[in-house]
Amino acid sequence: MEIEVLRHDIVIVGGGGAGLRAAIAVAEADPSVSIGMVSKVYPMRSHTVSAEGGAAAVARDDDDFEMHGYDTVKGSDFLGDQDVIQYFVQEAPKELALLEHWGCPWSRNEDGTVATRAFGGMSTKRTWFATDKVGFHMLHALFQHSMRFDQIVRYDEQFVTKLLVDGNTIRGVAALDIREGVMRLVLGRAVVLATGGGGKAFPFTTNGNIKTGDGMALAYRAGVALKDMEFVQYHPTGLPGTGILITEAARGEGGYLRNADGERFLVERDYGVGTKAELGPRDMISRAIIQEIEAGRAVTQGDWGEHVYLDLTHLGEEKIQSRIPMVRELSKLYVGVDPVHDPIPIRPVVHYMMGGIDTDIEGGTSIDGLYAAGECASVSLNGANRLGSNSLTECLVFGARSGRKALEFARGASEGDESSLRSEGANEAGRVDALRAKTSGTEKISGLRRALNDTMESGCGVYREEVQIQASVDTVQEIKRRFEDVEIQDHSKVFNTELISVLELSNMIDISEALTSCAVVRKESRGAHTRRDFPNRDDQNFLHHSLCHFDSTGPKVSTKPVTLGKWEPEERKY
Ligand SMILES: Cc1cc2nc3c(=O)[nH]c(=O)nc-3n(C[C@H](O)[C@H](O)[C@H](O)COP(=O)(O)OP(=O)(O)OC[C@H]3O[C@@H](n4cnc5c(N)ncnc54)[C@H](O)[C@@H]3O)c2cc1C
Repeated sequence: MEIEVLRHDIVIVGGGGAGLRAAIAVAEADPSVSIGMVSKVYPMRSHTVSAEGGAAAVARDDDDFEMHGYDTVKGSDFLGDQDVIQYFVQEAPKELALLEHWGCPWSRNEDGTVATRAFGGMSTKRTWFATDKVGFHMLHALFQHSMRFDQIVRYDEQFVTKLLVDGNTIRGVAALDIREGVMRLVLGRAVVLATGGGGKAFPFTTNGNIKTGDGMALAYRAGVALKDMEFVQYHPTGLPGTGILITEAARGEGGYLRNADGERFLVERDYGVGTKAELGPRDMISRAIIQEIEAGRAVTQGDWGEHVYLDLTHLGEEKIQSRIPMVRELSKLYVGVDPVHDPIPIRPVVHYMMGGIDTDIEGGTSIDGLYAAGECASVSLNGANRLGSNSLTECLVFGARSGRKALEFARGASEGDESSLRSEGANEAGRVDALRAKTSGTEKISGLRRALNDTMESGCGVYREEVQIQASVDTVQEIKRRFEDVEIQDHSKVFNTELISVLELSNMIDISEALTSCAVVRKESRGAHTRRDFPNRDDQNFLHHSLCHFDSTGPKVSTKPVTLGKWEPEERKY
């Protein structure tokens, strides 16, 4: 049977914050273009919905672009590109104001101005919020606004399995309809990837199940480098057991971290965060917690393994209820603690990938017409460590920019030869059909996933060391070989979630390959990449981005210069 072909001017993969913002940018710029938006879940189920704390942008009189820029550069441990950061801070307030026009209910001060809260590593209050359900409100406003444009045609619950590249030009994507089990081609003259992060490669994470690094893997296999993959952000305050996030807003509103003896260890000992204490950046606080655990000062009693406390009891019920109600809700529900009366058990948890698809400042990749934005991209805003609340704003600023750029490209681009794309699509459909029909295979998905999770945690955790990282490099390659023998029990077409799990697992294996390969060669400590065997930052040898290219003979790691500017690298101390 002939494969069905759908045609649009622009194809956007992903219906989260970055994908919706890109789609809106295109639609607003030109009412005559048609946009196909492909998403493996209904847009409101994208991970953006679960963001809690807020989105950063200069809003107050005591703040300016210079300060937001410097905080971000310093937070990135000088690995962020300074042209990108300067563009970002200037666009940020405009984007958040636009979102309000589209219906996002930012919380207000008594005098009616936009309320802002403190966040880690930021030198003043610049995180806009809508209580602590920010992602929900932002995504809702974006989704709602996107519906005003008939030219945005959605393909929900369609899983993209391949980028269609002709020579070095993108032509569209192959997508599996999850409901029907049918493969279709969605062709366009430009494609924007906005597929989010891949935290699920790790066992203990705040990330939803859908965050399996698909877009990163698609681009990687198509020949685009993944950049700075070794930098994985651990958020200091995850709930033990589930990994559910307790937002940094809890510390922004005045929460303390305490060890088993009740000490505020960030104040009592020198962990590099200075007077910022609980409002230090995430990489430093996560390391401090691990050190407290290793020094035997963690809480060990109870059901939650080794952990420390997030203490909000001094804030009072009224403040907790009005500013961070979801923190209270989640704590009660998942660890049985009411933070009004008792401290919340917490430990560091994998939260965000600073690395991703290598793009320039406009979201462009090394494939003509292929763009990327949001968490799947590495536009080099976050460098070696992202500051909390910069990511939601990043989705807007660079989602919009890559959408506009994709439109500009599409206007001058040709459509490509449909018959050769059809045959490439048929091959891809054949590959996925064969996988679904496979009756041999002894490797269980769950076993492979557990092996991957375990090795990523042991080699690429908060603290890293040569022997363990190398073991992870080797184990990922072994898992890749074992994956060839994966077992599929469900051969049906309709909502075959086992097949989707297999496809996602192969994506996680590929991004883990890039992550471990970059981690082993960066023999220094910078931002979230902390090596016990190389405890210092080494600007002489490592002030550069890492690139990892896919190759059938194994990953190829190289480097790319950092764009410096007015902020000279200096010791990162708070
Ligand atoms: C619990 C939590 C709280 C957070 N809180 C904050 C916060 O307060 N402030 C902040 O700045 N950041 C926060 N972050 C980070 C931030 O929310 C994310 O980085 C950001 O929302 C990512 O948006 P995105 O559009 O790039 O991707 P996502 O929102 O993850 O969307 C990805 C989209 O891609 C689609 N997709 C993926 N793979 C495929 C495929 N193979 N085929 C088709 N479609 C596909 C999905 O269907 C989805 O629509 C938080 C993250 C988490 C996990």
